[in-house]
Amino acid sequence: MTARVLVVDDIAANVKLLETRLQAEYFEVLTATNGPEALDICARGQCDIVLLDVMMPGMDGFEVCTRLKSDPKTMHLPVVMVTALDQPADRVRGLEAGADDFLTKPVNDIALITRVKSLVRLKMLTDELTMRMATGNDLALEDQQVLAHRISGDDGKILLVDDRASSYERITKVLGGKYQVDVETDPQESVFRAAEGGYDLFMVNMGIADFDALRLCSQVRSLERTRLMPVLVIVDPEENARLLRALDLGINDYLVRPIDPNEMRARIRTQIRKKRFASYLRDNVQQTIEMAMTDGLTGLHNRRYLENHLATQFNQAASRGKPLSLLIIDIDFFKAINDSYGHDAGDDVLREFANRIRANIRGIDLASRYGGEEFVVVLPETDAALAYMVAERIRAHVAGEPFLIYDRTKMIEVTISIGVASLLGAGDSPEQILKRADQALYTAKRDGRNRVVADAA
Ligand code: GH3
Ligand code: MG
Ligand code: MG
Repeated sequence: MTARVLVVDDIAANVKLLETRLQAEYFEVLTATNGPEALDICARGQCDIVLLDVMMPGMDGFEVCTRLKSDPKTMHLPVVMVTALDQPADRVRGLEAGADDFLTKPVNDIALITRVKSLVRLKMLTDELTMRMATGNDLALEDQQVLAHRISGDDGKILLVDDRASSYERITKVLGGKYQVDVETDPQESVFRAAEGGYDLFMVNMGIADFDALRLCSQVRSLERTRLMPVLVIVDPEENARLLRALDLGINDYLVRPIDPNEMRARIRTQIRKKRFASYLRDNVQQTIEMAMTDGLTGLHNRRYLENHLATQFNQAASRGKPLSLLIIDIDFFKAINDSYGHDAGDDVLREFANRIRANIRGIDLASRYGGEEFVVVLPETDAALAYMVAERIRAHVAGEPFLIYDRTKMIEVTISIGVASLLGAGDSPEQILKRADQALYTAKRDGRNRVVADAA
């Protein structure tokens, strides 16, 4: 993962120290020695994360953080406050100013890299989402509120694996107001619970007795049902080697005893937000893909999909010398159905008609809603004679059985007209086939409707 990290500190030696360590992990590093300079770099969108010293002459770190978090352009930029070890009150102030995390001086290497990586991932998710919102349709206000809730890290369900009552009672007490904390004292059982329980976070005491907590981390990371759940471990200060193993196994973050309640809340909040962001984006992508391909009313493919797909089918058939046919179907006097029974009844007819098409074609055939009450069906490996029979079967299944409208309380007669065209030899094109089918449809309408006409060619 590469990212641009801005290091802000008024003491050049401090800047240099962090810069060297970050560069060793292949981060790109920018530096600033005072608040205004830092704000300028952030405003120009030049960095992905800010490491911010608290004590600086002129504008201090809290002030810089507050400004960054109140400007819509920079509010999503992760900020890590770098505080002095002997000033725990600074952490609280930093969090109040909107900081996402903090590090204490002297900065520990593992801590530095873990926090930066974790927040950079969060930043990437935020960027992705912001970009989608800017390019996609603007979200309605209520959707924005739903979204804001969906990606908040201020509530959620936590599974805490801990066998020491004094430890889990303290943690539960700190988190109780905001989070639902379920304690599991049996590590083996915790994997099952994690898979079933819909948790936002898996927290493990690395010191649990009679069980290798690393194995637990590894299981949770690899199981299909839990692999997307963030894992936060709690370690003792002397457990560095095990912590490194845990990080290698893919755990997301850690807390060192004695646990600072503010730090714990900050880390949990970040992890839960990140998980929710990621899951929102996944759903969103899925939805966008489906929406781009399907017609909302009938569930059939839409015109755009049809046009792409027809081109592919055409090329395959033409290059392999196989037949290919296409039907254009139009509902007869559909405007009159709308006029007599209302637009909703018209929609019912469209949906039911789509079902009847589906019932009368094969899996490899492609049915699509081409326009309002016009449908196109592509029939691969089907010659003109067979396509005519398919079309006739669909026509008969529409004319032969009335459609139900008004909550299935009223029956009406519906008929359709169909134009059929098939792939001709060299020089033919998808556009030409569509055009010939359309002309055949026109003939079917002219000759009295409720009929199938094949292109004469
Ligand atoms: P023809 O037999 O010549 O095809 O006559 P028609 O009335 O079916 O054709 P026309 O193209 O004049 O009218 C189509 C109507 O379909 C007009 C339009 O309001 C209606 N329509 C288009 N899309 C929808 C829709 O999604 N739902 C409903 N209910 N009506 C639609
Ligand atoms: Mg029509
Ligand atoms: Mg029409």
